[in-house]
Amino acid sequence: TATSITRDTQVFELIAKEQHRQESGLELIASENFVSKQVLEAAGTVLTNKYAEGLPGKRYYGGCEIVDEIEQIAIDRVKELFGASWANVQPHSGAQANTAVFVACLKPGDTILGFDLSHGGHLTHGSAVNISGKYFRPTFYGVEQETGVINYDKVEETAQRERPKLLICGASAYSRDWDYARLRAIADSVGALLLADISHPAGLIAKGLLNDPMDHCHIVTTTTHKTLRGPRGGMIMLRNDFENPFGIKTPKGELRLMSSLLDSGVFPGTQGGPLEHIIAAKAVAFGEALSDDFGDYANQIQRNAQAMAAAFVSKGYQIISGGTDNHLMLIDLRSKGLSGKLAENTLIKADITINKNMVPFDDKSPMVTSGMRVGTAAVTTRGMKESDMEQIVVYIDEVLMNHDNEAKLQAVKEEINSWMKAFPLYS
Ligand code: PLP
Repeated sequence: TATSITRDTQVFELIAKEQHRQESGLELIASENFVSKQVLEAAGTVLTNKYAEGLPGKRYYGGCEIVDEIEQIAIDRVKELFGASWANVQPHSGAQANTAVFVACLKPGDTILGFDLSHGGHLTHGSAVNISGKYFRPTFYGVEQETGVINYDKVEETAQRERPKLLICGASAYSRDWDYARLRAIADSVGALLLADISHPAGLIAKGLLNDPMDHCHIVTTTTHKTLRGPRGGMIMLRNDFENPFGIKTPKGELRLMSSLLDSGVFPGTQGGPLEHIIAAKAVAFGEALSDDFGDYANQIQRNAQAMAAAFVSKGYQIISGGTDNHLMLIDLRSKGLSGKLAENTLIKADITINKNMVPFDDKSPMVTSGMRVGTAAVTTRGMKESDMEQIVVYIDEVLMNHDNEAKLQAVKEEINSWMKAFPLYS
């Protein structure tokens, strides 16, 4: 305990170390990316000092004129980016965005139907350990064992049987595109609302490289920090606003619009003051995402993923569903006699970061798993191209095939550290 406040060298030294780790390693975690210097700069500003409960122009605190302008820029840019008529950019994270939707649309005990976590879905889509599975009645659809792909006829059967109030699509580890039109028909047939959580492929969807969920899904949520390359955060969007189907009225006796219920679901439903420094960083990132440069970037993410998948297949790795439409792939390591845990722990010794992941119909526990998930968003930000993806797979294979050879792992690590110098990040 010091008597005076001094520069916190302990924490800043660790931050510098973390920056070095990020710059010198190979980042393949599918949910991660590197923000630009200006996004980073906006996130670390005096805006963190400001309370701004409410929405631009309708705040519960004084002195919000400037943050109002900033938040409005974020909203306007994201509306343009996704062709939305309404957006709320305040959710602190993807989980918060989803929870706000649940608070707006569901009552405790209502049935929800989501994509099974163990098949690639997300915790917030009904897992027993998340509020979505504790406060609501979760039911699930999954992929076919033979193909690794969702069978929409079975989704329909499950929806008919379970009668959900909310049908959720979107995933954390599914490499195929989604048939949103079909899902909407299924939702309509049982009177459910359709929510798309596009956290992972948002950047690709924004640039028209994957099917557009906005026309078909009543509500769309996303994180802002994956392929969209913004700061860590979440948001909610609507292409078309609509009167809420639950009969919730305004004091004047009119049905409240869904946008108004969602705004309330965020604040005061599940959050307090918005993080205006992060909203400024979102605004900057959305501005970047509107550019043609970002279109080239998103395109390269997808081309890199395809090159990486082909390289894995040529080395005898088994990719769930056989390939990828987006930025990620899930690899079943059982044919190589490895677990996800061993792969993750070994690759990190060579400064290659991936995450272990359950594969559909996995026979191992979530702490061990049979799979690994890899994605190309972060390495594409570093400037890597298709031929680099082939080199990455050579390194990964070398590491996995020599997982008990410490000297070999050290040698690969050194090669990677020197290779990454050709792809500068912040320095
Ligand atoms: N939804 C999906 C599909 C995700 O993949 C994630 C994060 O991995 C989230 C929600 C949660 O986002 P956050 O970690 O920002 O709460």
